[in-house]
Amino acid sequence: MANPSILPLTRASLSDLSAIEGRERAVVTVYFPGSEHRGRDASSPLPDLPERLVDARGLTPDEAEHRRQSLDLWRATTADLSLPPASGWVAVVSWLTDQIVFVQLPSAVEPAAYLDNSPFLLTAARLLDDLEAYAVVYADHERAVIYLAALGGLAEEERLRGDVKNHVRKGGWSQQRYERRRDKEIHRYCQGLITKLTAIVAEESLRRIILAGDKLLLNELEKRMTPDMSAMVVCRMPMEAGKDPRDIFRATLSAAAEEEGREERWLRDTIRGERAAGGRAVAGPADTLAALREKRVRHLLVGPMVDVDFWRCGSCGASGLGAATTCGTCGATTYAQSAANEFIDLAYEGNSRVEISDEDLSDLDGVGVLLRW
Ligand SMILES: [Zn+2]
Repeated sequence: MANPSILPLTRASLSDLSAIEGRERAVVTVYFPGSEHRGRDASSPLPDLPERLVDARGLTPDEAEHRRQSLDLWRATTADLSLPPASGWVAVVSWLTDQIVFVQLPSAVEPAAYLDNSPFLLTAARLLDDLEAYAVVYADHERAVIYLAALGGLAEEERLRGDVKNHVRKGGWSQQRYERRRDKEIHRYCQGLITKLTAIVAEESLRRIILAGDKLLLNELEKRMTPDMSAMVVCRMPMEAGKDPRDIFRATLSAAAEEEGREERWLRDTIRGERAAGGRAVAGPADTLAALREKRVRHLLVGPMVDVDFWRCGSCGASGLGAATTCGTCGATTYAQSAANEFIDLAYEGNSRVEISDEDLSDLDGVGVLLRW
């Protein structure tokens, strides 16, 4: 039996999950809250959870066999499994390829399970989009702490002592010497902080940094950042020393959410503008689907697309826009799928960036993309 892998919620993890795919409907995706959040719902311990959630009705004999095998693999894997703490989880089980992958989620998701020929990533992708991890740098003249805001909390990553002397008035030569020395101390302190921050940003594939603490020191820090790192700073929050990290985290949450909204508006405007100018953008379900299949998509913006039908053939794996009827390729009966989920899956497969909107994006017919070429 395959050893389960446990991954953090990152774009790379979702790309890994999207690669778990077969022509047949033999992939089960399970969402469930973390153990502390599962409460007294002892009626469904983890090994039995997907059984009642994956509907056995209406399955072909092959699909029923896939369901049975997947649930067996799930039971065998989770019977003695101890997962690290997390608010929630998504797991993907593929018995044909003998893969089982768990990804930590930053929120206590409702239990849900799906049987399909690819993982159901919509819920995880939305959480990744809304609760993307970021770095928080708290710094004053005495100390600096770099935190990683991820999975619904703040974890301390690095700590640095500043011990930069206070500004004191002495006058004359000694004052000048004193100032030079202090400038040097600040320079060294900021460089040290930037080195550690650079490592964390690379390791965690972060795109956003929030600065908190002493305003003057944060200015000194920003002056020494590379243009790339500077561009990642989305918010500066003056803050007194001695704040509880939980307060710092709460204070940064709204800034992170605002940045998320700003990015969505920017993408929507850019797609509309590029498209109007005949540039590298397309919109609407049909053109977007074609671009996703050609792996031409750099950045996908997808709304709920509730009125867009999508079908998939469980027999030959064909799929397309429109209501489920009979497969044009093999003649089997097709089944309806979430269009948004299909598009998101394809985007992760093609290593595209994914932005999920709660708005219906009528100016883009529900969905649009920036193209690579
Ligand atoms: Zn077919």
